[in-house]
Amino acid sequence: MPPNHSLPIRQAPPSAHAGAALAACPKSPGAASLYIHVPFCFHKCHYCDFYSIVDSRDRQSAFVDRLELELRALAPWAARPLHTIFVGGGTPSLLRPDLWRRLLASLAGLFDLSRIAAGEGEFTVECNPETVTPELMSILASGGVDRVSIGAQSFNEAHLKALERRHDPDNVARAVELARAAGIRRQSLDLIFAIPGQTPAQWRSDLETALSLNTEHISCYALTYEPNTAMTARLKRGEFQRADESLEADLFLLTRDLIRAGGLDAYEVSNFARAGAECRHNLAYWRQEEWLAAGPSASAHVGGRRWKNAPRLDDYLDRSFDGFSTILDFEEPDAGRALSERLMTGLRLREGLDSTTVLAAAGAFRPRAPARLSRVADRLRRQGWLQDSDRWTLTDSGILIADRIVVDFMAALDP
Ligand code: SF4
Repeated sequence: MPPNHSLPIRQAPPSAHAGAALAACPKSPGAASLYIHVPFCFHKCHYCDFYSIVDSRDRQSAFVDRLELELRALAPWAARPLHTIFVGGGTPSLLRPDLWRRLLASLAGLFDLSRIAAGEGEFTVECNPETVTPELMSILASGGVDRVSIGAQSFNEAHLKALERRHDPDNVARAVELARAAGIRRQSLDLIFAIPGQTPAQWRSDLETALSLNTEHISCYALTYEPNTAMTARLKRGEFQRADESLEADLFLLTRDLIRAGGLDAYEVSNFARAGAECRHNLAYWRQEEWLAAGPSASAHVGGRRWKNAPRLDDYLDRSFDGFSTILDFEEPDAGRALSERLMTGLRLREGLDSTTVLAAAGAFRPRAPARLSRVADRLRRQGWLQDSDRWTLTDSGILIADRIVVDFMAALDP
């Protein structure tokens, strides 16, 4: 579930391109993170609303040619050294091995990867369990990849079928082992809960299987029904019932308790890690740092501006703008939006938010906002949902209603 896709963005003139957006951004110190979107998949999973196309392999080469041009165009705005790279999709592990070799060589030539090589940064590639081979893992490891995020989703065949995920659950353990054998020292698993028909006992079994693989990081997201997905259409046709809210809350609590007992802790509402094994790239998103974006539908955040690359591969392959992508959405820096985003993502983190800096930014945005935000924080503390400290950090019970709390804080920014 790449957070790169989750940021709300408005429509902007279709003629814009990333080069025009970056022209207003300083090149130094540069964005410390880079997201790359690989749009190919075996087939379309029924719950998925990420941009992906069913791969026939015949356009992979053209895609990598185009991606290399884009990376070359973006490189002057990248921090030297780069801190994190995340290759998501789609199914990046579906790219042909020869194309992976080319892409990794380009990255090494265009960017300073010394911090990643020293183990102080992070280079993650998302993998589908079916596509993990010894050859691919060895290529990734030699190219500096030090973390794989494996889309397990479930270990229950009926639930995988309900999601239209087509992999053998046994291949998840195999993928973890192959990554380790190749020297990729960090592994993460993605799981989905609240799948139609799923019982707490079945979810417990999924979690126990995931924990038995001893990865340092697990992400667990409740199934969401996005507009225009096959899953939502099936729900509307009455083919199944969605999990109700109280079952979903029970499954969430079970997740937290079991994963904690397994030695990982929640550092974000849906993300669990051993100490020090948090996903550094996703933390850059959630802390509202800066990142460059390459590939169709990838979203960038540089110099307070946000934009999203054109989602269609055909549009992306168009080379009109010296390597830069066409962008369909663009937002100028906006203090109110930046504050809202800080609240939205920061409150979901275990580290919470530094109230002093948020209140200072709120005061510069709207003079009455700091007093209103402080009143909301005081009330939430009295209700036991916010911890009693200078940082705004949700308690265990507050995390259960994190979305409501974010809305309360954001309302305090209104005129
Ligand atoms: S593999 Fe991932 S990106 Fe591709 S269709 Fe399935 S959920 Fe979407």
